[in-house]
Amino acid sequence: MDLPIPYTKHTITQEDIEAVTRVLTEGALSQGPQVAAFEAAVAAYCGGKHGVAVASGSAALHLAVRALGIKPGQKVITTANTFIATATSVLHNGGEVEFADIDPDTFCIDIGQVRAKLQQAKRGTYAGIIIVHFAGLLLDLAAWRQLADEYSCWLLEDASHALGATRIVGDQIICAGNGMAHATVFSFHPTKHITTGEGGMVVTSSDVVAQKVRLARSNYLQKPSLEALQQLGGWYLEMAEPGFNYRLSDINAALGMSQFQRLEKTLETLRQLAELYDEQLRELPIQLPSVPKGVKHAYHLYIIRTTQRRQLYDYLRSRQILPQVHYVPMHLQPVFHALGWKAGQLTATENYYNQCLSIPLYPTLQSNQHQYVVDSIKAFFTA
Ligand SMILES: *Cc1c(COP(=O)(O)O)cnc(C)c1O
Repeated sequence: MDLPIPYTKHTITQEDIEAVTRVLTEGALSQGPQVAAFEAAVAAYCGGKHGVAVASGSAALHLAVRALGIKPGQKVITTANTFIATATSVLHNGGEVEFADIDPDTFCIDIGQVRAKLQQAKRGTYAGIIIVHFAGLLLDLAAWRQLADEYSCWLLEDASHALGATRIVGDQIICAGNGMAHATVFSFHPTKHITTGEGGMVVTSSDVVAQKVRLARSNYLQKPSLEALQQLGGWYLEMAEPGFNYRLSDINAALGMSQFQRLEKTLETLRQLAELYDEQLRELPIQLPSVPKGVKHAYHLYIIRTTQRRQLYDYLRSRQILPQVHYVPMHLQPVFHALGWKAGQLTATENYYNQCLSIPLYPTLQSNQHQYVVDSIKAFFTA
């Protein structure tokens, strides 16, 4: 049995290697056919109109919020139980972050808390809402969109954990990126369901948002109209606004495209392994992931809750199992502490943080490794 066992691990196949090396011998290295194919494949899979690939999930968040817009003095509501880039995307666009507490059952942003904040504020206080389908649990997009519309807010999904997650809402099966939110962000970091090494994507059904993100990712380089070109010269490029170089290379996109081919298989394996944990850990004095009715979880993470988290973490590490904690709440990080946030303001998030542990889950986790994790957790609680 291979040790140590990390909490997550990417998979690279021979096909992945061949797909990448093919790009290196074929010509276009940056915005070639692989980027376009990858964008089209992911957007089609989600049911969204446009996919715009960028250099990371963080870059995708930065540009998505930029495209959706924050007026001076406006705030954006999001969760503190997330990766830092969800929240800093707002700061990078001149907005203020308002953290709402989580639902203690799903560990996701609590819609009741967000509604209360919207109700209590003057209209126009909030530009938008960023939800996170935490760990891979897809939120009810219909309910969130309705709430956003009621208060004239945009709705952005950080779906970095939720590629392939679904939920039954009414007589519809919904998924991230299907256009119910104004924009959706995916990350293709090696910890995620599919990887491009580094990379991300904005999926949107809005032509305006897609065009803004596409221009901003490439320094706003734009060819003027054919008519203008004839007058100005064929070389002419126009830059209407300050942008960024957030492009994804064709090399990265080829890897993503190859990984994408086996996404369903990856999801199936993760769900089977999660189900095995559900069965084998059921008797222990820990809280297992609770999956609402109609939700097909994407299991980016498998998180258990225990009041003995610190001891269990140390014990598992002593047995060469490397669990992780997701996340140290954002409002307790120096970057937000400096903006006035402090302990005691988000009690459900803080209680969750004190008890959560992400145990190993990835597609190549072997059955003897899985069993060793289960046996080790059992040993801890029966010792
Ligand atoms: C991974 C992740 C991101 C983006 O990460 P990058 O490393 O920039 O690709 C954003 N939000 C969440 C919730 C994530 O897990």
